[in-house]
Amino acid sequence: MPRIDLRRLILLLSLSVVTLTAGNLFFASYQTQRNFLMAQTLEANRIYAVKLASTTENFLKLTQQQLAFSAALLPEIWDQPEKLWQETHRLRRETNSFNSVTVIRADGKIIAASPSYMNLTGTFSSSEGFRQATSRRQPNISQPYIGSSNHLMIQISHPVFDADGNYLGYLGAGIYLNEPNILHSLLGEQYYRDGTYLYVVDTQGRLIYHQDPTRVGDVVKGNPAIDAVIAGQTGSLQLNNSQGIDMLTGYAPVPRIGWGVISQRPTAVTLEGLQRLMLEVAGYAVPLLLLSLLGIWWISTLITKPLWQLANSTQYWGSSTAAQSVSKVRAWYYEAAQLKNAMQKALMSLHQQLGRLNQENVTDPLTGLTNRRGLQLILEDWENRRQPFSVLALDIDHFKQVNDSYGHSAGDLVLQHLAQQMRRHSRESDVLCRHGGEEFLMLLPGTPPSQAIQVAERLRAAMAYTESPNGIPVTVSLGVASWPQARKTVALVLKEADQALYRAKESGRNRVVHADQDMPPDDANG
Ligand code: GH3
Ligand code: MG
Ligand code: MG
Repeated sequence: MPRIDLRRLILLLSLSVVTLTAGNLFFASYQTQRNFLMAQTLEANRIYAVKLASTTENFLKLTQQQLAFSAALLPEIWDQPEKLWQETHRLRRETNSFNSVTVIRADGKIIAASPSYMNLTGTFSSSEGFRQATSRRQPNISQPYIGSSNHLMIQISHPVFDADGNYLGYLGAGIYLNEPNILHSLLGEQYYRDGTYLYVVDTQGRLIYHQDPTRVGDVVKGNPAIDAVIAGQTGSLQLNNSQGIDMLTGYAPVPRIGWGVISQRPTAVTLEGLQRLMLEVAGYAVPLLLLSLLGIWWISTLITKPLWQLANSTQYWGSSTAAQSVSKVRAWYYEAAQLKNAMQKALMSLHQQLGRLNQENVTDPLTGLTNRRGLQLILEDWENRRQPFSVLALDIDHFKQVNDSYGHSAGDLVLQHLAQQMRRHSRESDVLCRHGGEEFLMLLPGTPPSQAIQVAERLRAAMAYTESPNGIPVTVSLGVASWPQARKTVALVLKEADQALYRAKESGRNRVVHADQDMPPDDANG
């Protein structure tokens, strides 16, 4: 199975780091924004509820002061129905606070009422408002109830006492919860925006103001904000409302009447903008992210390229191109440079060793001349290249006698002596070869037969006239042949040289014979 490469690993690592980091940042910024938005909304709702509750509280206080002032006037005019009516009328018309104003005797008889079209004067009241006002004989704000006019209403009342402190009855002002008046415009006519809305509950948790009129009168159970506000607390909460909607809620009580004002906004509506915002952020981030990925890809290519090239060059380590491809690698940083250096050194020593082994393979250890194997390689090469040459085949005359008389090692010295003479009488490009015990060849590239014969003759003469190491003269016989004059194979030319040598031996030794000659040259016999 092919292994994954370094570049892919780096890319994979970078990709996961980049996406993880970006994801984390994105998530963290989403969370921060979300918490911020939610906290902001909760606080806004709380402040809104507090503001409205205190305004309502002030309004109720004001109405109670109004009633107290009027009630103080009543004992003097208690027996004057016309004046009583005028007072109720004034009170109702003076401000838009009350929908109805009545003066009610302790026995329940209504002795003055405005508006007069309701025809209440003279009737007896048995309403919840009457019951609450008379039972306590104190300034009072009733809890909401359905009045005689069939309105959901509250009654604000102030007791009336005569000069002796006897309870005469009370002055009552009705505020209809779903008719136009100041309280209604305070609590009932809210500006609903961005899903934020407001409602009001009474002491029982009953909805008395709500944007959905059908819900007015419902008692809400299990809403922690309502429970808290009825208990007199101010605050904010995230909660699931009775409709199962996640809400951000702020609440504040109206202490004078025990009501709770609750302002809330669906969490989803609050976070709607956030999703758009995050998409926008992503819109900015993604191109940059892609750009940086491109950068990472480029850098990872730069980093891994030298290592990849070095690794690749090991595939053809044995071949001669390995060193070349390693040297081409641009190792621009420490590790790559070290590797490259080490590989170059290893390759060099490898090739040196191989070269030495090759050299040893083709060299004769005694004389340092090319051996039979080397000869073969060279002949193959020359034959392929059609390199013309002449060949001299040499054999030492009566060598057995040298061995016999002076010993084998003395014979070896003679062989070395001959090799030396061969070197002396050859050119750089000639190939000198010991291809048998005391049988030698000289290959003379680009040398015609006549010249080859001259070389052979000089060598023969040199051997004959120089003193050999053991002091006695050693002569050689030579056979000469040329290629490709004869239009024969190289092997055949060697054989011809050998045959010529044989003829030189037969005709008396210490002479040169050319393969194409029947007779040795005249001057050959020294
Ligand atoms: P001829 O003139 O006919 O060539 O006579 P010769 O005695 O030289 O005969 P031949 O060439 O047949 O003899 C070869 C001898 O060379 C036999 C062997 O003892 C000797 N010889 C072969 N190789 C070596 C070697 O490496 N060292 C030594 N000292 N002698 C060798
Ligand atoms: Mg021989
Ligand atoms: Mg011999």
